This record gives sequence, structure tokens and C-alpha cells, in this order.
Amino acid sequence: MAQHQFQTEVSRLLHLIIHSLYSNREIFLRELISNASDALDKLKYLTVAEDAYKSISFEPRIDIAFNKDAKTLTVSDNGIGMNGTDLEESLGTIARSGTKAFLEKLSADAKKDSNLIGQFGVGFYSAFMAADRIEVLSRKAGEEKTWQWSSEGQDSYDIEEAPGTADRKEQGTTVILHLTEEGLEYANRWTIEDIVKRYSNHVAFPIFLTYDEKEYDDKGKEKGSKTKTDRINSGQAIWCRSKQDLKEEDYIEFYKGISYGDDAPLHYVHTKAEGTLEYSTLFYIPSKAPFDMYNVDYKPGVKLYVKRVFITDDDKELMPPYLRFIRGVIDSEDLPLNVSREILQQNKILMNIKNASVKKLLGEFKSLADAASASGENKKKWETFIVNFNRPLKEGLYQDYANREALQDLVRFKSTAVEGWTSFADYLTRMKGDQKNIYYITGGDEKTLRASPLLEAYKAKDLEVLIMDDEIDDIVIPSLHSYHRELPGTDGKMETKHWDLKAVNRAGADEELGEKQDKQAEKEAKPVIEKIKKALGDRVKDVKLSRRLHDSPSCIVADENDPSMQMAQMLKAMGQAEMPDIKPILEVNGEHPIVLSLKNTGDEERIADIAGVLLDQALLVEGIKLKDPANFVRRLNRLLSA
Ligand code: ADP
Repeated sequence: MAQHQFQTEVSRLLHLIIHSLYSNREIFLRELISNASDALDKLKYLTVAEDAYKSISFEPRIDIAFNKDAKTLTVSDNGIGMNGTDLEESLGTIARSGTKAFLEKLSADAKKDSNLIGQFGVGFYSAFMAADRIEVLSRKAGEEKTWQWSSEGQDSYDIEEAPGTADRKEQGTTVILHLTEEGLEYANRWTIEDIVKRYSNHVAFPIFLTYDEKEYDDKGKEKGSKTKTDRINSGQAIWCRSKQDLKEEDYIEFYKGISYGDDAPLHYVHTKAEGTLEYSTLFYIPSKAPFDMYNVDYKPGVKLYVKRVFITDDDKELMPPYLRFIRGVIDSEDLPLNVSREILQQNKILMNIKNASVKKLLGEFKSLADAASASGENKKKWETFIVNFNRPLKEGLYQDYANREALQDLVRFKSTAVEGWTSFADYLTRMKGDQKNIYYITGGDEKTLRASPLLEAYKAKDLEVLIMDDEIDDIVIPSLHSYHRELPGTDGKMETKHWDLKAVNRAGADEELGEKQDKQAEKEAKPVIEKIKKALGDRVKDVKLSRRLHDSPSCIVADENDPSMQMAQMLKAMGQAEMPDIKPILEVNGEHPIVLSLKNTGDEERIADIAGVLLDQALLVEGIKLKDPANFVRRLNRLLSA
């Protein structure tokens, strides 16, 4: 027997594992299964690729067994196997450079480190979380001898030729865990099944569990037990199978499994990338928004696998936040299995997969949009998509600058010109020849917005206004500033054109409405404007003669750089106590009888009443709550009874 000392890093790792790692112990089984699966992969490859191995015929399999009385758990494979030298190199040192670097980063703070290390995944050595002695029996493919590696996870391990009966008949590796008291919980059929289903269900090789089932006689008395072996994983990962072999039902069934629901998805997209990066993705668009879509602590819907081995389903970095409704799987061939979450976030490979996936999904959304005109079915599909996910996509407009172009063509709005949903691109097709801007109105609900006096002059001039009744519009759309589009120029070459987005409830959005009043009218209205201004005092920022009113006597607009009144109100409701008081600009219709009636009166109280009602009704019609409704009613009643 030869005793060997562990490499220093291994000792350190083992020390940490044994003394400070308590949570997430179960992952050791995932690690052992993954090693077994790798070993099977390697041998499978050799039997097809190298002559020396072609004579080996084997049915790849992984076997798990346990013995409660002997306190053992065994994981066995018939893969490539290891000889004495391999055992020394593989299970005495740490080859992965990542692990070394990771260990160097560890502090002396055991608690903090245990957390880190648990997420990191520590390969074979993690088995010492559940065992205080491990034996590995292994026979390398093409060799005769079986070797035994054994250790108690301290500073040393032994390697010897397997003692007599321990010889393996077939190539491969058997790992025997002598379970600790805490580890005993894994000597249980249901626990093992549960862990395997959770972490290794899609390992491409069959995993069998051998267990004893008690047998009872007619009187219900125990009469012995029978040993059974069941396959406990479902096998080939659906996302690794070729699209031709899969039916719609297969996709739907898998979706139901991962979405814990019974709804069919709205749409799915299955991709296999085989270039510089090798990975598969299977993404689903749900037919309903996930219930926690608007919670900060939503559960991410995309799972990460590395070579079919489950890594995490709790990483919000796998998708940008605005695509948090997507469900599915990313499986990379290039990532190391022992990748920690901290490291994941900066991982270049994953970043590339993520970027490509986002592009793929946005392209898929676009196809849904394009198909919408083709049939009623497709139209319904697209509308379901928009009703559920328009809002997160709008978040994307300010979260994902790189994909802004694609996103601005996916979001949809209501409009004064058409029924149903419309896009910026559609708006352009309806635009007047020389129209310079795209107009929109935000704040409040659709009904209020459609009735807003602010729209009157646009209607009269036949200028389309987009109705933006979603709370988020007020935040997102102003930050867009303009809509860009590639169009053929006069010389036929493509060029980027852009149209400014103008909110009609802002000063400065009326330039295309033309001069409604001549200078004379402005001069004539001046005394009235002054009277109103004086009466309202600091309730308004300014009072102006309006170009946008036709029927209504007054309206409010926000100064070009102020937040709108509706937005100020929303921010206040969201707990932004520090919001400064935003004052509106009051615009009045110089031709309206109420405004005209101010011309010839000097009655201060009457002027104050009319000015007050002009302002308050303009606020009310925009859905803004009055600060002093009683005062408004008093003024109104006085005017009505005069
Ligand atoms: P990793 O799997 O990340 O390389 P591990 O510590 O889990 O790290 O394993 C170290 C090495 O031991 C593996 O790279 C492999 O060469 C070898 N090994 C572990 N388990 C097996 C097995 N069941 N069959 C063959 N080789 C194995």
C-alpha cells in the first residue's frame, strides 16, 4: 500500500468542506453523477474514434445503491476508469486552474467561504460533505487491474491494487461513500430519487437506483425484502435532441414540467449553435404573464445547464430583467461545470450566449409581429403577446441600449387614428408628407386621454396622436427622444432617419399646429391673460394663449423639462416624498366665451372664480386630483348662481 499526501490546495479545500460546509450538501451527488457521465462520454468517444478501443462493447450506465446498515452509498459507472497513476493525479491534486484561483480568493471567514464554496461546486471532494471515508475502485478501459483509492479526507490518501474480491469485472469506477451521521439521510430511496430528478434528470445516460423493497404476507406481516433496480432519470435532454425528432407535444409537455403549470406556451424557439461557441437553448414565451413578473424578487425562468448537468435555476443574470417572463433552458458545452455564480456574471462565454439569446428572442418576437397580419390565429397570438408583455418590453427600451432599435419596433400603442394596437412604424405610414414629429399623450387611463382637450387642435389638423395610457410610458417614452429608422434615401442608399417624439401635454409640442392667433389676437388677449395670471398667483408657472384648443376653454401643459403633473402624482404615490411641487402652465382658448367674458369685468371675486375654475377643470380632465375640491365646488356654484 502506498500512502500519498494531498496537494496543499486539496487539503485546504477538504478542510473547508469538512468543517464549514453545511448547506446544500446534496450537490455532492450531482458532482459524482457528473463525473460518471463524463467518464462515459470519454469512453464512448474512444470506442468510436480510436481503434484500440473499438473492440470494447458497453452499455453506458450509472448505478446508485445504498446500504443503511453498513452506512454506505455507492455511485458506479462503466466509463473510462482510472489506473493507479490516474487516481493519483486526479484525486490527489486539483488540476482545474479555476479552483486554485478560487481557493486563493477565500478569506479566513469560514462562514462566508462556506457559502461561496457551496455555490462553486467542488467536484469529487464534495463527497466528503456526507462521508468520512471514501473508497474508489477503478479499472481503466483496456487494462486488467482494478485499483483502489481510499481516504478519510484528512491530509493523505492510499492507493493500492484492489484487494481480491473488490476487482471490477468491467471497466469503470465505483465510488463508495461511508456516510457520516448527517450523511445518513442520503441512504434513502426517495431522497436519492428527488436529488437525481432535480439535478441530473437530463444526464444523457440512464441512472439506475437499486433498493430493497419490503415484502409482506397476507396478514400484513413483514416476510422479507426484494431487491429492485429502477431507472430514475428521464434521460436525453429534450433541448439536445434534433428538432426533426420532436413533436409539438414533446415541447409542450416539457414546458408544463418547467413552468409547474398546465397551460400550453404561446410560442417556443429551439436553437442549436455550433460555431465558436457550442450550446443549445430552448425558450418558451408563456401564454400568460408569470404571477411574480412585477415583483422585485421574481423567480428567474431560465435554467442553466453545462453539458446536460444542471447548474442553477436561480440566476437573474441569464436573461436581461425585461425578458424575465421567458421560460426555458440554456445548455453550454464550453462552460466549466464548477462555475460559481459570482464567476458566471463575468463569464465571457455566458455573456456571448446571453447576447445571442436575446437577439434570437427579439427576432422571434418580430416574426410573431410580422405574422400577425397573415391570419386570425396569428393575430390573436400577437395580441396575447402584447397584452401580456408590452410593458416589460418597454422597460427594455431604457435597460437595453444595444437592442433599442429592435425594441422600439416591437412595442405597441393605442392611437387616435386607428383601432387596436399600432407601432411607430405604422404611424409613419399614416403621416402627412411634411410632418416632422410623432405626437403622443401620456398620463391617466385611455378614456381620460382620449377626451383630453389637448388633442383638439391635433384632431382638427388631422395629426395622429399615440395614446399612452401605461404608467411606464411616462418614464420610458420621454427618454427615447426620437424614433429611428433605416430608409432608402434619395440616392437609393439606406440612411437613418429620425422623428422626434413630442408629448402634446408639454410646451413646445405645438409648433406644427400653426399660428392660430395672429399678433393682433395676442395683443387683444393680453389683458385677460394678465388678469388670470394675477388671480392664480403661484398655482401656475405661467398662463398663455393656446394654439391647441378648439372647443375647450383651457388646458394644462408641463414645461418642456418638467415632469408631467401625472408623473409627479405617480412618483408621489410611489413614496417619493421629496418631489418638488410641479406647477403646470395654463393655456387658455382666447375665443372661448368664458375666457372672453373676463374681458369686461373688473370684479376681483368673479375673475378669481373664473380663473380658478379654468385651472381646476383643466386639471380634472387630465385625471389629476384637486388639492382643494371644496374650493372648486364653491367657485363653480357661485358662477352658476350669478
Ligand atoms: P472535475 O470533474 O471538475 O475535473 P473532480 O474533482 O470531480 O473534478 O474530478 C477530478 C478528476 O478525476 C476528473 O477530471 C476525472 O479525470 C477523474 N474522475 C473523477 N471521477 C471519475 C470517474 N467516475 N471516472 C473516471 N474519472 C473520474
